[in-house]
Amino acid sequence: MFHKLLLRMSVNFMMVLMIVMMVLGALISRFMWVNELNSGVKVMKADAQAIAHNYEYLNSWQISSKVFIERINDAAQDSSVWLLDRNGLQLNITGLDENTPNLTGDDMRAYMQTVLQSEEPVVFNAGFDSYFGKNPVITVAMPLRLNGEAVGAIFIHKKLELINTGFLPLFQELWLAAMVASALGLVLTAYTAMRITRPLTELANASKRLAQGDMTVKVRIYADDEIGEVSRAFNSMVDALQTMEGQRKGFVANVSHELRSPITSIAGYLQGMLDGTIPQPEHQKYMQVVYDETQRLTRLIRDLLDLSRIESGNIPMNPVDFNINELMRRVLIKFEGRLDEKNMEVEADFADEPCMVHADVDRIEQVVSNLVDNAIKFCGQYGKLTLRTRWEGDCCAVAVADDGVGIDEKDLPHVFDRFYTVDKAHTSGKGTGLGLSIVRQILLQHGHDISVESARGEGTRFIFSLDRAKKNDGN
Ligand code: ATP
Ligand code: MG
Repeated sequence: MFHKLLLRMSVNFMMVLMIVMMVLGALISRFMWVNELNSGVKVMKADAQAIAHNYEYLNSWQISSKVFIERINDAAQDSSVWLLDRNGLQLNITGLDENTPNLTGDDMRAYMQTVLQSEEPVVFNAGFDSYFGKNPVITVAMPLRLNGEAVGAIFIHKKLELINTGFLPLFQELWLAAMVASALGLVLTAYTAMRITRPLTELANASKRLAQGDMTVKVRIYADDEIGEVSRAFNSMVDALQTMEGQRKGFVANVSHELRSPITSIAGYLQGMLDGTIPQPEHQKYMQVVYDETQRLTRLIRDLLDLSRIESGNIPMNPVDFNINELMRRVLIKFEGRLDEKNMEVEADFADEPCMVHADVDRIEQVVSNLVDNAIKFCGQYGKLTLRTRWEGDCCAVAVADDGVGIDEKDLPHVFDRFYTVDKAHTSGKGTGLGLSIVRQILLQHGHDISVESARGEGTRFIFSLDRAKKNDGN
C-alpha cells in the first residue's frame, strides 16, 4: 500500500516541477527574446544612421561611392537594405531577398511619409512581412537627406527567425538543466517517500501484532518529526495497554483469591461437621462461622458488582437536594452499636443547619458509611471519630476523621486502588479493599474527587466535596 504513496508523491513532484519549469522557461524565454530583439534593433538603428550620414558624405564628395556601397553591404550581411527615393523608386536593393516587389503602392507611400517626417530612425514591428514571403520581419527606417531636405529613405529589414536563433542554444541548456533537476528531484522524492513509508509500514505491522495480542511490540523512532511523534504515541499507547492488561490480570487474580478463601473455609468447616471431625456440640459455633463467611462472600460480590456498575455508568445518579448533616447523623445511628462497642467518642462539627447539598442521597450515604466503617475499623478502644461539614464557595467540604492507626506515606497513594489493603493478609473478617474504590468512583460520577491526609499512628482524615443545593433552602 505504501508503494502507492511513493508513486503518488513522485508523480505529484514531477507535475509540480514541470509546471514550475514551464512557467520559468516561458518567462526567461520572453525576457531573453525581448532583450535580443532590442539589441538587434539597436544595431539596425546604428546601421541606418551610419548609411544616412554616409549618403550625405557621398553627395558632398567626402566619400566615394565604393565606400558607400561597402557600408550598405556591411549592414546587409544578415538583413535586407532598401535605398528608395521619396516616390518609392529603388536606388539600391541589397540583402537577403532580392525579389523585391513593387514598392510604389499606397501602403509603401504611407510608410515613406512617416519616415520622411522623422528625424530619428523609425521601427516597424509589422507591415513588411508580405515582401519576404510572409516571414515576419522587423524594420528600421531612416530618411536620406540632401542639403537638409529628405529625398528618400533607407529601410533595413531583419527576419525575426534570425533573432530567435541567438538565444536558442541558451534555451536548450535551460531545458537540459530542468531535466537534470527533475532527475535529481525524483531521486530525492523517492528517498523522502521511503523515509516516510518505512516507519508507517512498521507502525502498520506493529498494530497488526498488537491486535493479535502481542503486548510487547514497540516501533523504532527514526526521526524527531511528526511521524516520530506518531511512533512515540504508539509506544506510549502500548505501555498504557500493558499497564491496563497488568491491572486486569491483577484484578482477576485478586477476585479469585478473595472468592477462594471464604469458599475454602466454608467447605472445610462443612466437611468437618459432616465427617464428624467437628463434634456435634461445636456445630452451632462453626455454623456461625460458615454463616459469617457467606455474608462476607455476599458483601464481596455486591461490592464488586457495585464497583463495575458505577464505573461503567450503569447506575444512574439521581441527584436531589438534601441535608448532608442529617445524612451523617443517620449514618452515625446506623453505626451506634459498633461505636459503643469500642467506646468511641464522636464529634459532629457541622456547618449551618440545614446544610443543603445536591447529590445522589443513597450513593452519598454509601460513601459516608464506608468512610465511617473504616474509621471505626482502624480505631482502637476509646478512639475518636470526627465528622465535619464546611462551606467552601459553592461546595460543601465534608470530612470524616479518626485518631486511629493512620496510614503510612508509601501506602497513601494506593488506598483508593481496588483490593488495596495496608494489611496485605485478607484474613477472614477483614475488609477486601473495595470500599474506598467504590467511594472514589461515586464521587467521580458526581464530578468531585476525594483526598486523604494521614500519618502512621496519628489518625486519618478523608475530605470530599459536594455541590451546593440548587434551591438555597435556609442557607
Ligand atoms: P472494605 O471496605 O472493602 O470492606 P477495606 O476497608 O480494607 O475493605 P478500603 O475501605 O478500600 O478497604 O480501605 C483500603 C485500605 O486503606 C484499608 O485496608 C486500610 O489499610 C486503609 N484505610 C482506609 N481507611 C483507613 C483509616 N480510617 N485508617 C487507617 N487505614 C485506613
Ligand atoms: Mg473499607
